[in-house]
Amino acid sequence: MNSLPRTAAATVGFPDARGRYGAFGGRYVPETLVPALDRLQAGVERYLNNAEFQAEFNHELKTWAGRPTALSAAPNLSKRWGAEVWLKREDLAHTGAHKINNAVGQTLLAKRLGAKRIIAETGAGQHGVASAAAAARLGMPCVVYMGAVDVERQSPNVGRMQLLGATVVPVTGGDATLRAAIDEALRDWVSDPNATYYCIGSAVGPHPYPYLVRELQAVIGREARAQMLAQAGGLPDVAVACVGGGSNAIGLFHPFLGDTAVTLLGVEAGGRGAGLGDNAASLTRGTPGVLQGSYTLILQDAYGQVRETHSVSAGLDYSGVGPEHAYLMKSGRVAYESATDDEALDALAECAKFEGILPAIESAHAFFGARRYAQAHPGARILIGCSGRGDKDMPILQRTLLKDLGR
Ligand SMILES: *Cc1c(COP(=O)(O)O)cnc(C)c1O
Repeated sequence: MNSLPRTAAATVGFPDARGRYGAFGGRYVPETLVPALDRLQAGVERYLNNAEFQAEFNHELKTWAGRPTALSAAPNLSKRWGAEVWLKREDLAHTGAHKINNAVGQTLLAKRLGAKRIIAETGAGQHGVASAAAAARLGMPCVVYMGAVDVERQSPNVGRMQLLGATVVPVTGGDATLRAAIDEALRDWVSDPNATYYCIGSAVGPHPYPYLVRELQAVIGREARAQMLAQAGGLPDVAVACVGGGSNAIGLFHPFLGDTAVTLLGVEAGGRGAGLGDNAASLTRGTPGVLQGSYTLILQDAYGQVRETHSVSAGLDYSGVGPEHAYLMKSGRVAYESATDDEALDALAECAKFEGILPAIESAHAFFGARRYAQAHPGARILIGCSGRGDKDMPILQRTLLKDLGR
């Protein structure tokens, strides 16, 4: 268990042998899940940094998923903010967001582990679409668990998953959203852990998932770091990413952890305010507890009941966060703050109008955080992780920004 390989540029040796990031992480699961996680961990140790696996992973990312994604200068935001702004364009990746990196990597791992079917959970549907696409590519059947409430409010993505050959199973229990969908996927996995591979959608869950997802998403930060050196002539002063479960953020940040001159800034969903239930800011407003197999920071009441969350962006609307972020916040290496629904929508409108890029509402939280940073640090060189594109958000943008414009 000590042989987990590490991202080359990292200077911190986490997770430890028990899958812990300081106090956080670990594996809080029912006995029935332990053999499946042991098997997964053995597979990760055997294949993840194996040359043949890495060659196939990189080939698929390059020839199918559209990597490397561009690093774009943002001259108009730069002028408006009095800063030097660069965008890492995960919105240009296949299926429209960073999630495809993880789905490709995990399905390739599933094939090596001898799995016959892929299961996944999804909230907004983005991870479901990425998993369905990656499974179709490998010729494997795919079942996606999705809360019944989300099936209703994200119907375009349900259709996309079905066209990509996946079976979408609505989950009516619990909160009928993402949390219930993860529980249902875990139940399915326990019932047949050898033939089934559970492809988790963010850097959350029991060890080794947070580690596995980080390593698969670190391609974002490795590319961005090299592109900054080549195109900007140096590293950024700050790298900013939105944080839901935390996969695009840990992927962008991890290769910069050893660059102590680079400030790292994660931006959570501040929703409609500070009250419990009004936001999804588990790092800045949560307390320690166990959620879905991991000891991390979660939004819970005084009795330890996990509370529903609110965010205008479905992809950030989750009551927990990956354990490595909880550790990075406590250690002080990464700063976390939040942006409200209105602040994110405002930043989205500005980027669309002045840079010709419609970011996802999730990503727009990072744009707002970057703008606030620029106000406090005139002239700063800022790298923003643009985690996805906003086309999927048109229904909500029609009800908000476009209504304000009188369209
Ligand atoms: C899912 C999603 C997120 C949030 O997930 P993380 O694991 O925190 O990255 C952010 N941006 C986009 C575009 C997404 O689809």
